[in-house]
Amino acid sequence: MSKVALVTGASRGIGRAVALRLSEDGYTVIVNYSGNKEKADAVVKEIEAKDSEAESYQCQVQNHDEVKEMIKHIKDTYGRLDVVVNNAGITKDTLLMRMKPQMFEDVINVNLKGAFNVIQNVSRMMIRAKSGRIINISSIVGSLGNAGQANYVASKAGIDGLTKSVARELASKNITVNAVAPGFIESDMTDVLNDDLKTKMLEQIPLQKFGQAEDIAEAVAFLASDNARYITGQTIHVNGGMYMG
Ligand code: NDP
Repeated sequence: MSKVALVTGASRGIGRAVALRLSEDGYTVIVNYSGNKEKADAVVKEIEAKDSEAESYQCQVQNHDEVKEMIKHIKDTYGRLDVVVNNAGITKDTLLMRMKPQMFEDVINVNLKGAFNVIQNVSRMMIRAKSGRIINISSIVGSLGNAGQANYVASKAGIDGLTKSVARELASKNITVNAVAPGFIESDMTDVLNDDLKTKMLEQIPLQKFGQAEDIAEAVAFLASDNARYITGQTIHVNGGMYMG
């Protein structure tokens, strides 16, 4: 039976590219999404067209019960879960003084609590299997900070901390936990930014171009692979040199 990977928020953007890339490595992929069934099903079709297996699964990652149900479904259907990629994420940007408490909570709930919900629910299965890879999608701004994104940056800095703590807890069970921190990647999330801001961003990128979702997918595929077996608790930055640590 082939290995199984769950990618949250895989209907579009980075998650979609990760799902496609892992399927190339032979994984059966669960394409999680929030509301965009058409796009999630299109990703599944793309994978199936290459003779690999996939299924779409709707679930709000911020809802612990829904996540529990999703992991139970994976366990009952496939009996294993080798790789989890916590990619689902949202932004609700505005300056601190204008940020409604709900905007802060919503972003923390999806981006950070969502990852916790998934990790907590998959870890039992991985501990039993004495094997597993957990890969969390962080962000460059979790390291840099960013005006107008206090909620989002807090969620991503939280992801980096969550990654290190869980890596320490699960290392003895042969489970690695790492994060990939994208810089500026072309996707629906960044399409909404105005041209002025994009030009300013570009000036700060030594490689002088925006990243593609596939650039992140390659880093994830590496961390999921056996070649990365001795790497845990790390945040790998993929950002064209925009932040050098
Ligand atoms: P997109 O906005 O293009 O896609 C977001 C994905 O997340 C969609 O598949 C969406 O599903 C899903 N999603 C949103 N909310 C939920 C939820 N509550 N439960 C489950 N799934 C959900 O984002 P990107 O591809 O740009 O970003 C992906 C990740 O990468 C995010 O964590 C983001 O923070 C991070 N990142 C992105 C950067 C960039 O430059 N693009 C830079 C740094 C980090 P649906 O289609 O159903 O709405």
